[in-house]
Amino acid sequence: MRKENSPPPVVIVGAGIVGAATAAFLSLSGTSVRLLEAAVPAAEATGAADGAVSVASKRPGPMMTIARAGAALYRTLADEGLFAGLFHSRPTFLIAMNEGEAQVLAAHADALTEAGAAVRWLARADIGRRLPSVSTVAVAALEVEGEGHAVGYDIVARLIAAAGLTVERNTPVSGIEFDRADGRVSGVRTGERVIPASAVVVAAGGGAGRLVGLPDVSRPRRGQQLVTERAPGLNGALPGSLLSCSYLLSKKAEHGVDPRGYGVVIDPLRTGQFLIGSTREEGETSRENDIEAVARLAASAREMVPDLARLRIIRCFAGIRTAMSDGLPMIGRMPAADNLFVAAGFEGDGICLGPLTGRVVAALVQGRDPGIDLSAFDPARFAGERIAA
Ligand SMILES: Cc1cc2nc3c(=O)[nH]c(=O)nc-3n(C[C@H](O)[C@H](O)[C@H](O)COP(=O)(O)OP(=O)(O)OC[C@H]3O[C@@H](n4cnc5c(N)ncnc54)[C@H](O)[C@@H]3O)c2cc1C
Repeated sequence: MRKENSPPPVVIVGAGIVGAATAAFLSLSGTSVRLLEAAVPAAEATGAADGAVSVASKRPGPMMTIARAGAALYRTLADEGLFAGLFHSRPTFLIAMNEGEAQVLAAHADALTEAGAAVRWLARADIGRRLPSVSTVAVAALEVEGEGHAVGYDIVARLIAAAGLTVERNTPVSGIEFDRADGRVSGVRTGERVIPASAVVVAAGGGAGRLVGLPDVSRPRRGQQLVTERAPGLNGALPGSLLSCSYLLSKKAEHGVDPRGYGVVIDPLRTGQFLIGSTREEGETSRENDIEAVARLAASAREMVPDLARLRIIRCFAGIRTAMSDGLPMIGRMPAADNLFVAAGFEGDGICLGPLTGRVVAALVQGRDPGIDLSAFDPARFAGERIAA
């Protein structure tokens, strides 16, 4: 119960990885919080993701830079104990299946090196030694060190437990309340109730834009994925995840390589299974799978690793990413009020960036220096902007 005269808690809207991390870092550093969730923790993208903590897959520029910090934080938190047993280091291999893709890969290698990542070029003969299960059709590969994997919903559960938080489930927030006298945020509305807040952080994934008055600057982008049966031998022979160059291209904001954004990732899970993803389907909000996508992903994966043809697919699922019009998430204070913050629009990168975002947003809320340059992610860049539905 709140003591009389003490300020109301900071309200965080959304218990995906970003909201859970923000709530946990605030709480662990002494700020009272309430974490409101429309459904249950990790109900949306966080619960339907692969868990690549990857710099290799990022676009050059601010995303690559922030992803390096995001991956470094995972390593630190794993060493310190908060993420112990949940973050697993491993390299990523970007695979070029033809000469055109090899050129894309060479340019990407330069960008990664410039951003400070450790990379190693594998020519055809090197691929045979390092990745014997990869098709002999592959012409080149790039090994990127310092990467890893974490399951989004496990991270959410750990953050909530470590901070001793109670998630207020089935509590959809319908609006932000402002104090008419000073224009600052005074609380959030849920159903008939208004919950008072000293500050509000909107970390509501696809629901964030509407709450902060930017309903049209993001789009849903569906990703379909498959999981194979266990194959410990084949799985154990793959030292990291494989990403096709077409996957790199499908992540570009301008899209256009393939209308359904086919690009393949083959992730050797610690269970001995393989996770194979994923499509990037603009505007799709249904979490269903379809045979065409499943068959195409399976075929692309088999082209890259022919022995996958022996395995049964035991599960298919889909999740919805929230993609901003310029491909960069929005992280920071809203121009409307100095105690209203937003952290959303992480598209396919929020597992990697979620804990770091939680930490920097907690710092902003507490009036501390976030320690990294957030200017590229400033939500103010969308002032007055809308993209076509
Ligand atoms: C197929 C797929 C594969 C992916 N693979 C990777 C990967 O390998 N690596 C990586 O880094 N990222 C990956 N991602 C992206 C990653 O999952 C997301 O970027 C990340 O989970 C976004 O986290 P979030 O907390 O911002 O949003 P979400 O996880 O969507 O959480 C938002 C939460 O807010 C709640 N909410 C919404 N509206 C309201 C409201 N009005 N009131 C209260 N609560 C509300 C929702 O119920 C939800 O629980 C993948 C995503 C998909 C779909």
